[in-house]
Amino acid sequence: MNTKLLPVSPEAIAEAGRIIRAGGLVGFPTETVYGLGANALNGGAVRLIFEAKGRPGDNPLITHVASEAEIPPLIRGDISPMARALMDAFWPGPMTLIFPKSGAIPPEVSAGLDTVGIRMPSHPAAQALIRAAGVPIAAPSANRSGRPSPTTAQHVMDDMNGRIPLILDGGPCAVGVESTVIDVTGPVPRVLRPGGVTPEMIAAAAGAVEVDGAVMRPLQEGEKPRSPGMKYRHYAPVGSLVIFEGRAEAVASEICARYDAAPGSAAILALPGHEPLYGARRVFPLGGADSAESVAAALFAVLRRLDDERVQFIFSEAVDAEGVGLAVMNRLGRAAAFHIEKV
Ligand code: AMP
Ligand code: MG
Repeated sequence: MNTKLLPVSPEAIAEAGRIIRAGGLVGFPTETVYGLGANALNGGAVRLIFEAKGRPGDNPLITHVASEAEIPPLIRGDISPMARALMDAFWPGPMTLIFPKSGAIPPEVSAGLDTVGIRMPSHPAAQALIRAAGVPIAAPSANRSGRPSPTTAQHVMDDMNGRIPLILDGGPCAVGVESTVIDVTGPVPRVLRPGGVTPEMIAAAAGAVEVDGAVMRPLQEGEKPRSPGMKYRHYAPVGSLVIFEGRAEAVASEICARYDAAPGSAAILALPGHEPLYGARRVFPLGGADSAESVAAALFAVLRRLDDERVQFIFSEAVDAEGVGLAVMNRLGRAAAFHIEKV
């Protein structure tokens, strides 16, 4: 199959909408990462997503809508006041809410669960695509399974060339990590996966928040994850990755010692401004500014570069696990199989 890469335009959106309606797949930008979309109401179309990604069948997909009116037919029961408060505060935006699902959601989307994740993205191209398709769009991240989520159209091309008919290019993603997944089926919103909407923001909007224990540690033997994606290591870099936590100077001196002793190609992931701590060693800056938002936006592209260059030993500074930093440390920590050393 020939894969077209088109800049976002009314014509490209119309073509993408036709492909989705006809049961095909489209790579498209959102404010979090690029998605790989199919008609969420068509189980056969959704199965193509799993084939194109090489994704395990028990990992559910998020269903994307452009308006609230699309939601009632997709869920069972009413929207609770707590879910309503979150929707009013953070939609459209990088937040997925887990509801009990209705019979309209095919089992392929929910991977056999009795719940469905729903998100209303804010990216204008994502909204336009959903409207053009005229159906809700099921979409995971548009990477091949085991690769970092794509944050540019070129990343999608690198993984999906020849596997899907069309990729819409809307430039780099602003948030850079996948949506915050929140279970709203209980009395208190529970963060299953951290993202751009932070626990602090959720507590402010809904009065309370819980963060699932599996966010910052590996799953225990026999533990059943509440967010199935958590069970996969998702992405492991080509090289070995170790994260160092502590005061900047102590972390830098430990990283320098480990870098100098590495028996193969090595690289350092450092917060912007920390480069001088590492002298002439090879540093990849984590973003353009010393903020968790900037690190999140840059993270997956940096990890792809390290893989492209087959770097064997990667030493990374930690980020404060507060605000969006929790999402950064969740992704970085899982990529390192939670190999985090305190210095
Ligand atoms: P991706 O968009 O590739 O990050 O994949 C979507 C992720 O959302 C899954 O891996 C799950 O962790 C989470 N998710 C989607 N639907 C559900 C659901 N019904 N219950 C819990 N988590 C879900
Ligand atoms: Mg993914």
